[in-house]
Amino acid sequence: MEQGHHGGMSEESHEDRPTDGAAVQMDAISAALLRARALVLHDIVACRADVPGIVDVLDAAVHEREWWVRKWPEGAQYLAGQVAQDVQDHLVDTEGRWPACPLHAEEALQLEPPMDADPRWICGLGCGEIAALGKLPPQPPVPTN
Ligand SMILES: [Zn+2]
Repeated sequence: MEQGHHGGMSEESHEDRPTDGAAVQMDAISAALLRARALVLHDIVACRADVPGIVDVLDAAVHEREWWVRKWPEGAQYLAGQVAQDVQDHLVDTEGRWPACPLHAEEALQLEPPMDADPRWICGLGCGEIAALGKLPPQPPVPTN
């Protein structure tokens, strides 16, 4: 009845793995995708833009970027900014401006630099830098008229 814990074929986790670049890269990319999603989701929620369907838009953007980053792993550092801009592009067609400037509700913030590992939300109407991506402060509810 007693089985040695040495048995073998079913247990692969302790196998000596060769330095497999592909596997390491895969993990890093998955982590980068998750991080990008979390940062963008934070800013969506901060702006109260978490309308029905927004998570689908975000997930679709993350999914779309997956092939992009797997082709170009160096781009992983830019992933969050790219996903944010994808969501932004999509929302312009549907929900409107996101994220809105805290002072200029009609002005959407822009990510600067657009291709950067640590882009900032900038207001083009003079407020300058509002926050880093993923760090937007929660905005008060917009009074509806
Ligand atoms: Zn502004």
